[in-house]
Amino acid sequence: MSVLVFLENWDGKFKKLSFELVSYASKVAEMLGDQAIALTIGKVEDSELEELATYGAAKIFNIENEGFKALDDQAYTSLIAEVALKNDAKVLVLANNNTGKALAPRLSVRLKAGVASGVSKLPVSTNPFVVYKKVFSGKAFANVAIKTDVKILTLAQNSFDLVESPKDFISEKLEIKPDDQLLKTTVKEVQKQTGKILITDADIVVSGGRGMKSPDNWGPLVELADLLGAATACSRPVSDEGWRSHDEHTGQTGKIIAPNLYFAIGISGATQHLAGISSSKFIVAINTDKDAPIFEAAQYGIVGDAAKILPKLVDAVKEMKSK
Ligand SMILES: Cc1cc2nc3c(=O)[nH]c(=O)nc-3n(C[C@H](O)[C@H](O)[C@H](O)COP(=O)(O)OP(=O)(O)OC[C@H]3O[C@@H](n4cnc5c(N)ncnc54)[C@H](O)[C@@H]3O)c2cc1C
Repeated sequence: MSVLVFLENWDGKFKKLSFELVSYASKVAEMLGDQAIALTIGKVEDSELEELATYGAAKIFNIENEGFKALDDQAYTSLIAEVALKNDAKVLVLANNNTGKALAPRLSVRLKAGVASGVSKLPVSTNPFVVYKKVFSGKAFANVAIKTDVKILTLAQNSFDLVESPKDFISEKLEIKPDDQLLKTTVKEVQKQTGKILITDADIVVSGGRGMKSPDNWGPLVELADLLGAATACSRPVSDEGWRSHDEHTGQTGKIIAPNLYFAIGISGATQHLAGISSSKFIVAINTDKDAPIFEAAQYGIVGDAAKILPKLVDAVKEMKSK
């Protein structure tokens, strides 16, 4: 038996998320007395693949076939299911990102497996198999029992620390070709955004809400983000008003993110906003209203006027960086 973890790579490179997933899968495997198998698709250097063993992968499978170059839900599902069946995988672990959310339900049907999405801790028990996850936009937690033979878990980003547990490992290039009948998507061109840190990738996000008062006041917020190497984000009303572009809007109807550090500046902390940011490791809130709900979600808070506090923060970061 095994625990199979599916890992995306970005131009042949893994990200912290990938290592979180392997760390998690290898700990689940340990609980079950099994081994963790990592699967990734696309051309990846051996040294990069080997790093997965540092976090506990005992087997590392890489499929380079050009036919799988673009993410195609059906073809990927078929491929992952094939590897899962061949290796008697009883638990599959994927990221709780757009890719994981697209693949997990399809794999669930294919493998007749129960799914728990957005898990954030190791299983509470393995027999019965019970996992812990946030529900109702992070307002509550649930212990969910999965009763099927095969289980699928999607792991919330930033919810599990990296755990180094180096293993002797086997790395193998698998020769699997896509079934042409399944390939429904043709990607003709990929244009990547350059020069801007993507909110979903960023370690630090500096976000502003209606308390910023006007689009003209965004200067110090952007400066703070630049100094910290952070992405900028906003609440929905801010993008609805056209103060900032819609691709910065976080929340239930926007992007769901989990950076290490999230600055909520002039943001009230409505449930719909928290739904997109509550998995952040640390939240720092700046708000004039000491009773604003954002302070309940935040680990650090400053009660005060953003217009006065932001320039001071900018100066403090500049001073810190000059040392
Ligand atoms: C179906 C649905 C989906 C939604 N989806 C989303 C979503 O995805 N994302 C989202 O963000 N919202 C979403 N909303 C809207 C959400 O309910 C809130 O209305 C919104 O998040 C509020 O944005 P805000 O905090 O920027 O503004 P406000 O609620 O107006 O809050 C502004 C805050 O700034 C503070 N403030 C004022 N002046 C200052 C100052 N000078 N310095 C510092 N602080 C100051 C105030 O005390 C207040 O707390 C959704 C709503 C619905 C109904």
